[in-house]
Amino acid sequence: MKSVDAHLADILATVRPLAPLELELEQALGTTLAEEITSPVPLPPFDNSAMDGYAVRSADISDIPVTLPVIDDVAAGSVELLAVGPGHVVRIMTGAPMPTGADAVVPVEWTDGGTVSVRIDRPVTAGNAIRRAGEDVQAGDVVLEAGTVIGPAQLGIIAGVGRRRVLARPRPRVVVISTGAELVEPGQALVPGQIWDSNSFTLTAAVREAGGDGFRAGSVGDDPSVLLDRLDTHLVRADAIITSGGVSMGAYEPVKEALSPLGTVRFEKVAMQPGMPQGFGVLGDDRVPIFALPGNPVSSFVSFMLFVRPALDKMRGLPESTQETVTARVTRHLRSPEGRRSYLRGVLAPDGTIAPVHGQGSHQLAALAMANALIVVPEDVIEVAEGASVEVIRL
Ligand code: AMP
Ligand code: MG
Repeated sequence: MKSVDAHLADILATVRPLAPLELELEQALGTTLAEEITSPVPLPPFDNSAMDGYAVRSADISDIPVTLPVIDDVAAGSVELLAVGPGHVVRIMTGAPMPTGADAVVPVEWTDGGTVSVRIDRPVTAGNAIRRAGEDVQAGDVVLEAGTVIGPAQLGIIAGVGRRRVLARPRPRVVVISTGAELVEPGQALVPGQIWDSNSFTLTAAVREAGGDGFRAGSVGDDPSVLLDRLDTHLVRADAIITSGGVSMGAYEPVKEALSPLGTVRFEKVAMQPGMPQGFGVLGDDRVPIFALPGNPVSSFVSFMLFVRPALDKMRGLPESTQETVTARVTRHLRSPEGRRSYLRGVLAPDGTIAPVHGQGSHQLAALAMANALIVVPEDVIEVAEGASVEVIRL
């Protein structure tokens, strides 16, 4: 049997980072910057008021209270350059450009709020409540490095330096296809022998959480030719494909039957539980990676976490990372098969303990849904004593 690590290494040796594209900002969330972003201007671009109040010469406010004439009003967006002479003040709003001559802003809360003249009750020091040009960013500064994942704040600074488009590696588009003659779309009635298709929902959602765009391309029953047709339809728009089911040792294994003859997809036994049967390879002239995951719901999900997620990271242009684990103490005795790495489902608590959920079968999706972590039991360990330390992958 192939080890989990060897299988992942084969996958990572095959998948490539997606080519960068010029993306509109609206399309850029969750993509990975493929260029450095610099600011063409200082930010803020001009000295402006940090508060609503009065632009003053601080020297005029030494004897308080003092009442001074308000000679003008300046709001954010004003492009007129005002000046404040000795003994005068200008009413000013947050974000408005500082008038020349003024060296401080008196917040409206320190005054009577007058519009013709204003009484100021507190002294002010020079520079008070002024946001200086270049205080955040100097012209020419790098504001984001290439390789940064664009989240809401990153999107904000890209727009904030005036850019409309960016060069970025897109979110991988991943087509998810279920196989199995027993599958029925949720919302429709079942007859005995049928079950609702859950894997395509789990896997599509997992793709999205992993920074990709998942697309459910439905279920194809157990007919290999229908699967090939469906793959043909979706290959043009896919950066990767995930299938579930149809890869084990029985009859009616459409994924194995359809893809084995192509010679570009390998079906192997990986030394893990759940998820032993795994297929991986490439399809078409563009060598689109395909992950042929086992059908049992827990198996396909665990396989996604171990193999597809790191591959998506690589496609997004993120640095390769090892699976992050934390150490926890198990609340009860555990068994694990010899020679296979187990990923048992558990509930990790804030006190550093992990309670294995009841129902460790690879079909027990409800138990998976209650878990928040996977307990990793190494290949050579067959028993874990209550209270022993284990490595845990958070979900
Ligand atoms: P297979 O790998 O096709 O032999 O499927 C293994 C088990 O997983 C069978 O019990 C299937 O009914 C179940 N299964 C396969 N695909 C799905 C799916 N999309 N949703 C829920 N269960 C599935
Ligand atoms: Mg099947």
